[in-house]
Amino acid sequence: METRCIPCRSQHDYGAPSAPNYVENGELSATATRALDDVLRRVDDAIARGWRRSGDDSVYVGDPGVAYYLMRRGDVDAARELCGPPSSKRAAKAKDCSIMCGRTGVDLVAALCAPQEEAFLQRAAAIVARADVACSLELLEADEWLYGRVGFLRALLELRREGRAVPGLDDAIRRVVAATLASGRRHGGDGLRYAWHGKEYVGAAHGYAGILYLLLKAGCRDPALRALADWLRGLETREGNWPSSLPDARSKLVHFCHGAPGVVFAMAEAYRVYGDEAFRDACLRGAETVWHYGLLTKGPGLCHGVAGNGYSLLAAYRVSCDPRWLHRAVVFGTCIGDDGVCARQRTPDNPFSLFEGLAGSACFLRDLRESRLRAGLPLYEVDSVELARRGGLKIVLTKISFFFLPGASRGLSGHVPGNRTAR
Ligand SMILES: [Zn+2]
Repeated sequence: METRCIPCRSQHDYGAPSAPNYVENGELSATATRALDDVLRRVDDAIARGWRRSGDDSVYVGDPGVAYYLMRRGDVDAARELCGPPSSKRAAKAKDCSIMCGRTGVDLVAALCAPQEEAFLQRAAAIVARADVACSLELLEADEWLYGRVGFLRALLELRREGRAVPGLDDAIRRVVAATLASGRRHGGDGLRYAWHGKEYVGAAHGYAGILYLLLKAGCRDPALRALADWLRGLETREGNWPSSLPDARSKLVHFCHGAPGVVFAMAEAYRVYGDEAFRDACLRGAETVWHYGLLTKGPGLCHGVAGNGYSLLAAYRVSCDPRWLHRAVVFGTCIGDDGVCARQRTPDNPFSLFEGLAGSACFLRDLRESRLRAGLPLYEVDSVELARRGGLKIVLTKISFFFLPGASRGLSGHVPGNRTAR
């Protein structure tokens, strides 16, 4: 099990006598909102003082990912400027289809902060035009989220969520789903089997959890998908984690990218779709593992950090309606700015980026404050409102002021560049 983590503090857990009171009547308490606002102010300040353009054009760790956060914060003009102009028209290549590391991700962020309909449609059309490459099993070998077909599918779902008429969009979604199923059958016969770089990965970034989650979110109800969900559930280890890859059954990592946190989203969605409580139970066992081992020393980010794991605690909250999970998510949020936690964390290679650094942490903090029931791990999770309604919870959108104040950011100073570490 994950050893590169800071042990959870049981005295901070929900219901412990000395725990802070973060949830009252199913809502965030004033104590929680004050604590989260304070961390968010300091994160924003650290970004303002430390971030510089890197020239990296990936959403994952480059400037377009920071643009995504700026857009979320309301700084749309700055975000748009960071995305740059549309790329020149040339034949699409496989890498262009990647939502995290290719032009598709850049065009998607640019579309979301486009000033007019025309600019939105231009970027959307550039994404949809790559569907032929994304659907070719010869040209695009990867099916996973970070580089592959279901990441491209996630970009299409984001365009669909915008609710604007994009020519060819629905057809592209249908074709990419069909191609992903065909690819899985090519390796799996009657069932679905997927590999990336010759290895069967299990987690959200490169493996089965991400493929299952996004196919379900796209509305795919192929019977083979139910079998895949049952099979994935069965890969749970005795410790309540999931292996990174097969056939190696060890389960050392508790990251969004590898291990229980990413599987939590897949199990939650399988429960929503199939209504089988075995999926909900697996989801909550995975979230329990995240609580105990998910305060990672790798940093505050989304892919293999505290914020990504915090999103899976929120997913558990939406599934269960149990305030325990909201409380625990707030604990993770406050730990992002905790001096003691920061002192034990390494500095990510890209300390301000969306998926390794503080831009992703800030998204998590804002989601916790603003719209925890609609919260979604950026460019991975798809709107969960429907699920919240099923659970009978009210949608509460709390307006907050966004501060951008100078001030101390002692604990967060550990996340500025200097100590480069392996991802
Ligand atoms: Zn990762």
